[in-house]
Amino acid sequence: MLISKTLKCKVFNPTRKKLGLLDREYLNFQIYIRSGRDFGIYSLTKSTFNFKYKIKSRKKKQPMPLANQSTKLKITNHKLTPYWFRIPVKGKRGGIWLPIKPHEEIDFTWEIREAKLFKRKKDFWIYITIRKEVQLKTSYSSVLALDVGEKVIAAAVLSSERKPIFLGREVRGIRRHHAWLRKRLQERKLFKKLKEIRGKEKRRVELVLHEVSKEIVELAEKNDSIIVLGDLKGIRKGGKGKRFNRIVNSFPFNRLSFFIEYKAHLKGIAVVKIREDYTSKTCSRCGEEGKRVKQGLFKCPNCKYQANADYNGAMNILKRFESYMLSDGAVAFSPEPPMTEQTRAEAH
Ligand SMILES: [Zn+2]
Repeated sequence: MLISKTLKCKVFNPTRKKLGLLDREYLNFQIYIRSGRDFGIYSLTKSTFNFKYKIKSRKKKQPMPLANQSTKLKITNHKLTPYWFRIPVKGKRGGIWLPIKPHEEIDFTWEIREAKLFKRKKDFWIYITIRKEVQLKTSYSSVLALDVGEKVIAAAVLSSERKPIFLGREVRGIRRHHAWLRKRLQERKLFKKLKEIRGKEKRRVELVLHEVSKEIVELAEKNDSIIVLGDLKGIRKGGKGKRFNRIVNSFPFNRLSFFIEYKAHLKGIAVVKIREDYTSKTCSRCGEEGKRVKQGLFKCPNCKYQANADYNGAMNILKRFESYMLSDGAVAFSPEPPMTEQTRAEAH
């Protein structure tokens, strides 16, 4: 399976001469995509753009695509930054080497793919896509089932232990706190401040999602488990009640499952998504329909079972997955043929 991610790199302290060349190339490119007139753009850049992109808005600035055969990344012991990236510009043989600062160390076992050049305010940024082929394990000794919770981000159950593991309690608090803040700011019409805290909330939630997904994958790694996630997508379509719609719409579930998949695949762990309909209403002990009596508590009128509702959900996901397997214990997983599924990670 191929996994890819984007490295966000700032062009760091380029010389005035290089900056001039960059500015000229970038400006000519913007004129080209707006008017079709070419005042001097590197030919491969132009054809890559024409081949790959459709102009969505002629008014907006577009990142300049850099085909991977026209760029090069090297590591040096330069004191400014170790990473240098060569990009092509019209009329300059061999292009120009730019000092770049990526948001993380670059692992050279990944293959460099296409890149894009952006200009934000006065700074230039280069986003480089890199990719790697990973082999997913085909057999596991246990299952780690996850349910997206209301009170916690995720309730997890290991098939070998069957005890509840709760992760990411903080998110609810963050959201509640920010909802309160937003309301206050709206009342006072402090819109600039409002925009600021939106960004702050997003970053804080994102950070927790990263931590939770990391914990989950570490747990799976330690227990040699395949990861099973309930797939909420089916629920949205079927309209399985207000509670779920609220969770699906307000919860960064897609973001979380994306992080889990990405981090799991990096370690060769497969992630399976199964339909999650009814898992919140079904009793994980007897299979009859039960109820969420009050926040976070599940009760079964049939067998009198009581449990944390998110844990009950995770147990149902685990049981549903186990029912698909022919024998208990070892879990076999057959990966899809390579190239059909690509995991894309945005830079974070
Ligand atoms: Zn029951």
